[in-house]
Amino acid sequence: MKNILQIIAVATFLILVSFTPKNKKTVILDVGHGGTDRGSIHNELSEKDIVLSIAKKVQDLNKDKQLNLILTRDIDHFVSLNNRVNLANEKAADLLLSLHANYTGKTDVSGFEIFIKENALTEESLALAKAIETTYPDQIKKRKVTVANFTVLKNSECPSALLELGFMSNESDRNYLTSEDGQWEIAQAIYRAIK
Ligand SMILES: [Zn+2]
Repeated sequence: MKNILQIIAVATFLILVSFTPKNKKTVILDVGHGGTDRGSIHNELSEKDIVLSIAKKVQDLNKDKQLNLILTRDIDHFVSLNNRVNLANEKAADLLLSLHANYTGKTDVSGFEIFIKENALTEESLALAKAIETTYPDQIKKRKVTVANFTVLKNSECPSALLELGFMSNESDRNYLTSEDGQWEIAQAIYRAIK
């Protein structure tokens, strides 16, 4: 009888262990700008719309129940920088990725750029940046990873990176960033890097 009870106890334990979910990973996708803050502008195109469209595609790609992907905004409204980073800290996020598109007066300047913070998490942030650099589509050239203490980076308590997905001021980058195919390819690259 004692043996049977032990067997039942062990079996119950194994069943419980096998059904206990693995640790969920929480990733914050910070969708730059929004509302009255259009970000970079080229004619009728706004940075805020491009990054929202790409972020939503990343979310659509996520079928993994162990990956909790949270957008700082999923509609066109203004979110302060502090609220963005506070959300990441409240959710005890494992990663934070901030999405932007660049602009400069020189139309020949192009490329994808990653910014990371310089603090105790620099190494982890750099690993994240390198993962994204590897998966990012070749249609947009890669610029070097740069250290910058932007608010969302320096105040986040997890590894983080700010991505300038390409230059809206450059015709080739802009065409890619605004095309459906380009946006899906960028979303897939971000999703693969997160995973
Ligand atoms: Zn921006």
